[in-house]
Amino acid sequence: MATADVMKPDHASARRHFIFTDEHEQLRESIHRFVVAELQPHAEEWERDTFPDSVFRRMGELGFLGLDKPVEYGGQGGDYFSSLVLTEELAHAHSGGVAMGIAVQTDMTLPPILAFGTEEQKREWAVPAIAGQKILCLGITEPDAGSDVSGIRTRAVREPDSGDWVINGSKTYITNGHRADAIVLVARTGDAPTDGQGYDGFTLFLVPMDLPGVVREKRLAKLGMHSSDTALLAFSDVRVGADAVLGEVGKGFYHIMWELQGERLIAAAGAVAGGQHVFDRTLQYALARRAFGREIGHFQVIRHKFAEMATALESARQLTYTTAWRFARGDYPVREITMAKLHAARVAVDVADECIQIHGGAGYMQEVGIERCWRDLRLNRIGAGTDEIMLDVIGRSYGL
Ligand SMILES: Cc1cc2nc3c(=O)[nH]c(=O)nc-3n(C[C@H](O)[C@H](O)[C@H](O)COP(=O)(O)OP(=O)(O)OC[C@H]3O[C@@H](n4cnc5c(N)ncnc54)[C@H](O)[C@@H]3O)c2cc1C
Repeated sequence: MATADVMKPDHASARRHFIFTDEHEQLRESIHRFVVAELQPHAEEWERDTFPDSVFRRMGELGFLGLDKPVEYGGQGGDYFSSLVLTEELAHAHSGGVAMGIAVQTDMTLPPILAFGTEEQKREWAVPAIAGQKILCLGITEPDAGSDVSGIRTRAVREPDSGDWVINGSKTYITNGHRADAIVLVARTGDAPTDGQGYDGFTLFLVPMDLPGVVREKRLAKLGMHSSDTALLAFSDVRVGADAVLGEVGKGFYHIMWELQGERLIAAAGAVAGGQHVFDRTLQYALARRAFGREIGHFQVIRHKFAEMATALESARQLTYTTAWRFARGDYPVREITMAKLHAARVAVDVADECIQIHGGAGYMQEVGIERCWRDLRLNRIGAGTDEIMLDVIGRSYGL
């Protein structure tokens, strides 16, 4: 056999996954250009002051907030994979908080409004949110109820005469909570027990944040995701009409469990993208940084670290893509979504940790930015459901 006939591995060949088409790749390029030109340069400033509301408006103008949303509500009418493309490209903003704030709008609050909302609610909130003119947040977590959603205490009581609802309670760790125009809120409306067993008796409400009694109590300081705003909110005799109910009265728990599947899948995609981003930056570093007369990447120990990280990232990516493919076809693969979220979050955090190690002292320095990748990615093992809850969901899916 002639040497020319021998197949050589082409590691640089296009790595596009089968879920993505040429259109997705064009979209990827245009989002990438936007992220590098308009988001990345502000990453440092936004770490100090949080990113401005104008990012929503700009992304709305560009159509990026409605990529997979129906055209009749101002969306682009694309498939679910276009939303994955956005999430992946936002990893290049050098600012996990921007990606999170945007994902709360596109993949956490808009889906339940579009799925369960009335035509009026969609016109009033989904249309301007897709255009970037209104900002939304999602209120599930409370000071005394996080993982255990059924322990929620915020209560909405219906007044028999007017039919209005009066809401009292508080929500915490709410992303976009300080800037939001409206909140998708889970409240207790029935008498289900608060022992983690009651699933009926919750209702979703779509509540404007400028109503009397809505208090943005505190902007919470946190480990990472500094460019996002995270709020403690209080609701004190907040009166809303019957038209504020989102979906079915008493079915809020099920509605939010449905929402969480999309949230977890997009979180998995974001974690893989974040892990890949810090891997790529570290690879460049390892090929440039020299010690003992060679680039550190050429020490076998370091080479093997990259091999381990790449393998872990690829496994998380494949699990996420295959699950996304099923999700996009209309399946409801809760077990695999949960596995993807768990695995991707762990991989991303482990990769970021190893990347700090490979950077040595530089990895610990704020000005280099690798430590920020770790701090931002660390949230993935907590937000949208902790690792422990993911393990429990997976274990229970086997009847255990
Ligand atoms: C930066 C940030 C942004 C967030 N944004 C939002 C948002 O926009 N909207 C929103 O509603 N929430 C948001 N959250 C809240 C997030 O979803 C919760 O923090 C998360 O679900 C965990 O709840 P918790 O913090 O109350 O922890 P807890 O439920 O108190 O858990 C504490 C520990 O106990 C473990 N644990 C609990 N139950 C079990 C069990 N059954 N088995 C084994 N272990 C268990 C947990 O895994 C964890 O390790 C955000 C959180 C953060 C940190």
